[in-house]
Amino acid sequence: MKIEADLHTHTIASGHAYSTVREMAQAAAGRGLKLIAITDHGPLLPGGPHEYYFGNIKVLPDYIAGVRVLKGVEANIMSDGSLDLSTDYLDKLEFIAAGIHEDAGYYNQNRTAHTEATIRAIMNPRVKMITHPANLYYPIEIEAVVRAAREHDVILEVNASSFDSYRVNKRGSKELTLKMCKLARKYGVPVSLNSDAHYYEDVGNIKAILPIVEEAGLKESDIINTSLELLNKVIDF
Ligand SMILES: [Zn+2]
Ligand SMILES: [Zn+2]
Repeated sequence: MKIEADLHTHTIASGHAYSTVREMAQAAAGRGLKLIAITDHGPLLPGGPHEYYFGNIKVLPDYIAGVRVLKGVEANIMSDGSLDLSTDYLDKLEFIAAGIHEDAGYYNQNRTAHTEATIRAIMNPRVKMITHPANLYYPIEIEAVVRAAREHDVILEVNASSFDSYRVNKRGSKELTLKMCKLARKYGVPVSLNSDAHYYEDVGNIKAILPIVEEAGLKESDIINTSLELLNKVIDF
């Protein structure tokens, strides 16, 4: 299984990532990717960019090193399910992903609240993808989230960096990811496989999650970023 697009990457603007936009795009080109989304963290994450960063990101060209660069954000889902970037700024972007992060406006403590906040983010018409929904730190009612994603045409991500050696069995749960993939397949919800790279060498690196999505029975046609043609059905670019 191969992806043509990596929908989740971070640059130095995120404050804890270490490559530039150009380095990320060049690495993507070197790996045969046709598109990357630059999804730096929303402003509430410590060290994250100011909202002006997103306001000005239009200065980037559409193509860098021959790779289509989608200007995006990984906005923080806050406790009430809203995002940490106002609609004025969201509307300047081409791709809005959202996820729950520590120390970034999210303070709920239980599964019901994690589920409700995630579903509220899914209901936001600007949100196209939920990042790392199968996260043991913030466990959710996965079937309710998958059904909401189907209703609102939102992509659910399988996040490769969650399976790094220091995160596996904490944020990265094989059991939860398998369950999510099987339900996504049952309900016809688009899944994406992304690196969540914080350094150029990791762009497009989804090795850690391939065995899981294969075990879940997902085929290339179930995975929205295996071709730009499929991706274009959900995201305009
Ligand atoms: Zn994240
Ligand atoms: Zn991320």
